[in-house]
Amino acid sequence: MFKKILIANRGEIALRIIRACKELDIKSVAVYSEADELSLHTKFADEAICIGPSIPKKSYLNISAIISAAELTDCDAIHPGYGFLSEKSEFSKICLEHNINFIGPDSSTIDLMGNKSEARKLASSLGIPIIPGTKDPLSDIDEAVSVANQIKYPAIIKAVSGGGGKGMRIVNSDDELINNYEIAKSEALNSFNDDQVYIEKYLQNPRHIEVQIISDKFENIYTLGDRDCSIQRNHQKIIEEAPSFNLKDDLRQSIYKDSIKIAKECNYVGAGTVEFLFDGDNYYFIEMNTRIQVEHPITEMIFSTDLIKKQILAHAGENLSNDFKNINSKGHSIECRITAEDPDNNFMPSPGKITSLHFPGGLGVRVDSHIYAGYRVPPNYDSMIAKIITHANTREECIQKMISALSECVVEGVKTIIPFHLKILNDLDYKNGNFNTNYINILTQKKETIDASG
Ligand code: ADP
Repeated sequence: MFKKILIANRGEIALRIIRACKELDIKSVAVYSEADELSLHTKFADEAICIGPSIPKKSYLNISAIISAAELTDCDAIHPGYGFLSEKSEFSKICLEHNINFIGPDSSTIDLMGNKSEARKLASSLGIPIIPGTKDPLSDIDEAVSVANQIKYPAIIKAVSGGGGKGMRIVNSDDELINNYEIAKSEALNSFNDDQVYIEKYLQNPRHIEVQIISDKFENIYTLGDRDCSIQRNHQKIIEEAPSFNLKDDLRQSIYKDSIKIAKECNYVGAGTVEFLFDGDNYYFIEMNTRIQVEHPITEMIFSTDLIKKQILAHAGENLSNDFKNINSKGHSIECRITAEDPDNNFMPSPGKITSLHFPGGLGVRVDSHIYAGYRVPPNYDSMIAKIITHANTREECIQKMISALSECVVEGVKTIIPFHLKILNDLDYKNGNFNTNYINILTQKKETIDASG
């Protein structure tokens, strides 16, 4: 078993991993930027090391500073969390070269799955449906136009190395494609250091459904149910639920089978997620995320298991067959991502000092957060300040519990997205499960129409 784990991350996920380490009796080392000196992860870990200034490139993305911190503190493993270096194959490789276990897949698996066009090719070669479009990166605009005319507009230009809902442009005509092609390439280069893009059909009202995978080093690969993450703003998830509502059993079994096929093909070890878009009863593979996801707690709640602990155990060489062979899910779980943003001002980030704080509690209510009264939300990072998770026997009860939990929540000093979440949770279409990835656009339009008509 590992003796000491360095957590190459910040915020709630750093705390979440520290908790798992404590329960496994493993020492933990926090790293922090100058902006995070007063962050809880620096206090709750056994040791804490400053790795640089607030700018991520110089701290949380600074591989040499993180490796030095791990060597200095004698860590035998690094947990990357999500975001930052979690899907950088170079980081996984460098950890290995320094005899430090990377709690994530090896660099070749990350390379394969992190490259969306390679991942599409692999899925397709296994007979798994992919969205019509190019498998290889586009060579020029003529090829882009020709493919778009074959698959028919609307189409979406996507960065081969894209992630986090960024690096995508929807186009409806040849003109729009021509106007956006170079912009998409230069955005991809700036954000992901890779200007390759590809094009696929844009599905207008799909559902985003994903499958949780966990596997060990003994070729045991398990699926831990599915999550519906269709409630998105700008292609970024804000509410997730498990299991997916109204998913036909044969389709559910089919995406589980396909997810296992993919994980098997790349000798996957640890926690991962295979993502699909559903267009009616047709589904398509979109990508595999080779890390723990933000929304992992909803799966933990319904399966009553600790995914981070199991992920650590898998990488430490434990056999997981006793944990997952006959595991069943129970009830329904929902997660609301709480961000410090102003929903009345185009979701403008709202950093600043939290002057007063009260989180909800009670049976089936979980809060994963790093904030406290007096904490200053820095402007330098993602604006997520908490995840509120509810668990109940039915979806209906779970929504009601979330409404009650959010109503109890007091966060003063910064604006939060909570009022917007409450609008969604009280909306009849949401309650009836009548939604897709376009839901928030429709909800906003509905509100504008009501406002305009007084
Ligand atoms: P990222 O890696 O940036 O998260 P994904 O490929 O996982 O990107 O897509 C994120 C979201 O973008 C999806 O959940 C979906 O809402 C939207 N999306 C991506 N591709 C398509 C597509 N072809 N048609 C419609 N929506 C898409």
